[in-house]
Amino acid sequence: MRRKFIAGNWKMNHGPAATSEFFSKFGAELKDAKEVQEAVAAGTEEIAFFVPAVSLLTAVNVAKELPVIVGAENMHWEKSGAFTGETSGPMITEIGATHVLIGHSERRHIFRETDEELNKKVHAAIECGLVAVLCVGETLEEREGGKAFDVIKRQFVEGLKGIDGETLAHKMIIAYEPVWAIGTGKTASDADAEEVCGFIRGLAKENFCDKTAGELIILYGGSVKADNTKGIISQADIDGVLVGGASLKPDSFMQIVKNAL
Ligand code: PEP
Repeated sequence: MRRKFIAGNWKMNHGPAATSEFFSKFGAELKDAKEVQEAVAAGTEEIAFFVPAVSLLTAVNVAKELPVIVGAENMHWEKSGAFTGETSGPMITEIGATHVLIGHSERRHIFRETDEELNKKVHAAIECGLVAVLCVGETLEEREGGKAFDVIKRQFVEGLKGIDGETLAHKMIIAYEPVWAIGTGKTASDADAEEVCGFIRGLAKENFCDKTAGELIILYGGSVKADNTKGIISQADIDGVLVGGASLKPDSFMQIVKNAL
C-alpha cells in the first residue's frame, strides 16, 4: 500500500510572520483532527508544506512539534558559488528541511528552466539527502495539439536521466500538474488526471521496473480544493495532491487533508 502525500505549495506567499501564524493555526486544527493524527502516526498519510526560501527556517522551527514535512520550492544544482539570489541543497538541509520541489510549471515556464537543468537539480537534491518532487505537466496548447503524453514522457525521461529505480521509488515523488489547471480554477477531470498518472506509472514500469512503478508516489496538482479532493484521491494511480491556492489557509488545507484520508 502506497502512503498518501498531501502537500501545499505556497509559491511566493507567506513570509516568516505569516508562516508562524499559519502553523499555530494549523497545529490547533490538527489537535482536533484525531483521524489525521492517527493516519500520520501510522505512516499512511504524510502532510508537507513547500514554503518560500525566506520562510524555511521559521517553518522548520514552528512546525517542529507537528507531524509535518517542510520543503523548499526550488534549489540550485551547485552547492555554493557565484549564483546571486539562489539557494543550494546543502543550505536547505542545514535549515532542517527534507524535501524540495523541482521543475514546478512556474519554474519551467516563467523562469525557462530546461529538462537538462532540472535533471541536474534532481541529482543535486538526491546527493544532499533531499526528497525531490519532480513536477511534470503539459500546457493547454500541447494538450489541444495532442502532444500531452509526448511532453510528459520527455519531462519524465529527461528529468530522471541517471537516476535508478530504487532512488525514484524511495527518494523521489512525481507530481503531475497540467499547466492549464494551475491557479485557473479548472481542474482536470478525475478520469483525465488518472489517465495521465497511469501513463506516468507506465513510464516508470517501462524505464525502470514493475517494483519501482508499484512503489512510486504520484501526485496530481491543479486547482485542488476540499470539494474535489475525494474524487481525485480515489483514482488508482493518484497517491496524493499538490495544492497551491487552497493550501494558504490552515482550515481549507486541513479540509483537504481530511478528505484525502
Ligand atoms: C501549484 O502551485 O502547484 C498548484 C497546483 O496551484 P493551484 O492549486 O492553485 O492550482
